[in-house]
Amino acid sequence: MSLSEFQLIERYFSACGVGRPDVIVGVGDDAALVTVAPGQQLALAIDTLVAGVHFPPDVAPADLGHKALAVNLSDLAAMGAEPAWATLALTLPEVDESWLAGFATGFAALAVQHGVQLIGGDTTRGPLTITVQVHGLLAAGKALRRNGAGVGDEVYVTGTLGDAAVALRLWQSEARRSSDPDAISLYARLHRPTPRMAMGLALRDLASAAVDVSDGLAADLAHVLDASGVGATLDVTRLPLSTALRSHWGGSESEARRLALSGGDDYELCFTAPAARRAAVMAAATHADCAVTTIGSIDAAPGLRLLDAGGAEMVLSGAGYDHFAAS
Ligand code: ADP
Ligand code: MG
Repeated sequence: MSLSEFQLIERYFSACGVGRPDVIVGVGDDAALVTVAPGQQLALAIDTLVAGVHFPPDVAPADLGHKALAVNLSDLAAMGAEPAWATLALTLPEVDESWLAGFATGFAALAVQHGVQLIGGDTTRGPLTITVQVHGLLAAGKALRRNGAGVGDEVYVTGTLGDAAVALRLWQSEARRSSDPDAISLYARLHRPTPRMAMGLALRDLASAAVDVSDGLAADLAHVLDASGVGATLDVTRLPLSTALRSHWGGSESEARRLALSGGDDYELCFTAPAARRAAVMAAATHADCAVTTIGSIDAAPGLRLLDAGGAEMVLSGAGYDHFAAS
């Protein structure tokens, strides 16, 4: 290795993100030390990205730096926690300074945007693997959990769904990257997801339950339903689809909805709130500059019911969703 491990850490990761007054010891000692104010709880989330498994090998390093942090911030958003600190475990096949510079730049830019300081990590040699842990703060007892959805609550989702799934197909099928603006916006959705931090914070006093959509809406909402001991009925014609998705999706409208239900990597929030709070939810969304859409409601009967155009029921079958006539 051209740079020593210590030089690499010093050059790229010792001053990454903001400098926070609550950090007593950051990068450089055996452990980081931080101050947690009385009455605050810590929210911890960790996610690993493995080359070839979680991202294609030809993704730009700056995008990877962004995404490695973004997917973790998304988990904090879903808990209503305010991000504070991060640690980074990096396994690199070799020391590639231009890769490191790009990665650190993408990571740091998002960290600065959300007031996060990188306070430590681990650096090893091996197949490219990136693990980030984030630490967030919230007032004791205020976390948004998966287990609070109540019968009659409305089900909401932020942003649009299915973009990352379409982008991945496009990325895998394109030898040369399209310069079409819709394709570029889809690629940004896949490689540079936007964690819905402001919305997550605003939902603390409004939502009854929340989850971030990383594995696909149907799968992630199912976790909320199980944890809450309830079911839900969704009107899948209301699922928010982007114009970029519509322009690049060759299949039918109904197949696009299926993709929106099952496609992963969107990092939107799915949440529930009592119907009486709808105006407050919409006002919070405007304030957070985050689109939200009501897509259904919570029922007592367990399970997820999906109603397509004309009330035709869409049912889960194995890996995806199939239609059959309602009659
Ligand atoms: P130790 O051997 O005591 O575990 P290391 O030599 O692994 O410590 O790391 C030295 C310091 O650099 C520690 O403070 C550690 O948290 C930090 N560090 C190591 N790798 C990274 C990284 N990729 N990003 C940020 N900090 C790192
Ligand atoms: Mg040590």
